[in-house]
Amino acid sequence: MFDKDLIEILTALAADAALWSDFIALCDCGGRRAGTESESRALQFAQKRLAEIKPSVRVERVPYAGWRVKEAALTLADGTPLACNPLLGSQSTASEGVVAEVCDLGRGAPEDFESRASDIRGRLVLVRHEYPFSAQHIHRRRKLAWAIERGAAGFIIANPYPGAGPVAGSSGRAGQHGIPAVGTDYESAERLSQMNREHRPVRLQSVGEDYDAETSVLSLDLPGHAPEWIVLSAHVDGHDLAESAMDNGTGVAAALAVARACAPLLARARRGLRVCLFSAEEWALAGSKHYLDTMKDAERNDMRLNVNLDTLAGDDRLTALTSDYPKLNEYVQDVARAARITLNTYQPIMANSDHYNFARHGIPAMRLVAGFDRPDSDIRYILTRGDTRDKVRRSDLSAAAGIAARLVWRGLTMSDLEICALRKKLTYFTAGAVDKL
Ligand SMILES: [Zn+2]
Repeated sequence: MFDKDLIEILTALAADAALWSDFIALCDCGGRRAGTESESRALQFAQKRLAEIKPSVRVERVPYAGWRVKEAALTLADGTPLACNPLLGSQSTASEGVVAEVCDLGRGAPEDFESRASDIRGRLVLVRHEYPFSAQHIHRRRKLAWAIERGAAGFIIANPYPGAGPVAGSSGRAGQHGIPAVGTDYESAERLSQMNREHRPVRLQSVGEDYDAETSVLSLDLPGHAPEWIVLSAHVDGHDLAESAMDNGTGVAAALAVARACAPLLARARRGLRVCLFSAEEWALAGSKHYLDTMKDAERNDMRLNVNLDTLAGDDRLTALTSDYPKLNEYVQDVARAARITLNTYQPIMANSDHYNFARHGIPAMRLVAGFDRPDSDIRYILTRGDTRDKVRRSDLSAAAGIAARLVWRGLTMSDLEICALRKKLTYFTAGAVDKL
C-alpha cells in the first residue's frame, strides 16, 4: 500500500544529518555509566535535543540502588596483577580482599556447576561471558546466582575473546546481599585456570560503596487524534570501559531522529508518539521499572505498543524480539514485507532491555536489535572496551532508523481493532516471574 505520509517520514529521516551527529555527540559524552558526569552530560544533551522537537519534555526523577567502586584488584599469589573490572554493585570484600582457590567452571552452564558442585564452596568461581543475543545464551546473572547458591567466595566472568580486554555488566545486587563479582579478560582467565589446576590461591579485592541514587526518565508526548500512545524508547546509559556506542548510542540517536521525522505528521495519525529515554537500564532495568511500576493504571492502559531501540548497529541484520506477544510477529512481518526487507523475529520474552518492563505490564513490546545469533559480528564487543564508534557503519544506523520509523508508523496509524489484537497472548505470562537477568 502506498503511504504518502510514511514516504515523507522516510525522506525526512534519510536527509537528517543529525542522526549521525547525535550518535557522535553521545559517544563524545563517554561511556555514560549511571551516576557519573558522563551520564548526566548525555541526559542533558538528550533533553536538549528532545526539546528542539517540542519544548514540553518531562523529566521524571527515579531512584535506584547506586554503587561506586573505591578499589578493585585481582592478583596472583606472587602479586602479579590480572585484569579486573568490578561488575556494577559488586559486594565489597574486606579491604585486604579475599584469598581463595579458583574453581574454573568453563562456560558456567548448569551441568558445569553440577559436575563440580562440591568444589565451589569458599572458592572464586570462574565462568565465561557469552554472546548476549542468541537463543542459547546463559546470562551472567544466572551464573552468578548459581555461584551464590553454592556458597562461592567470589565470581569472576571472563571475556572469551583474546586481546579484547575485560567484560563489564551488572551484578544485579541492588543493595542486597551478594558476593564480590568482577569481569576479567581472556588472558587473565588462562592464568586463573592454571591456578585452579595447581591449587594455588589468588586474591580478589573489591571495595565499593552503596548509596541511594537518582537518575532521570526523559519523555516527550507528540499527540495524535486519540489520547493513546505508541512508545518509542531507548536507554542513554552504558558502561565506562568505552563509549557505549553500539549499546546504546545507536538506539538513542535513532529514537531522536524517528521522533523528529514523525513529529510534523502526527496531527494526521490515529494515535500519538511518546518518546521515552531511560537511564539505569544497565542496573537491572531500574529506570524503566520504576517508570512503569509507579504509573497510574489508566496511563499505562493508554500505551498501546512499545518499540524499544537497543543496539541497532554493529551488524546489518536486525531482529525484533517480540516478548511472547505472537501478534507482534505478524506486525513485524507486515512491515518487513511492505519495506521489501528481511526482518527476523524471536518470540520468547527476553529480559535484556527496557521493553521487558512494558511487556511485564501487559503492553505489547518489542526490542529491535542488531546481530541476533550472529556471534562473529562486531556486536560481540558490547560490554567491553571495544564498544566504540568505529564499529558502527553510518549506513547500518540509517537503515535501522528507517525500519524503526516504519514499525512506529504502523502502530500510530493501524486500526483500533488491530492495535487491540496485539495484546492477545498464546502463552500465559506471569508478571514478575522472570526478573531481569
Ligand atoms: Zn542496551
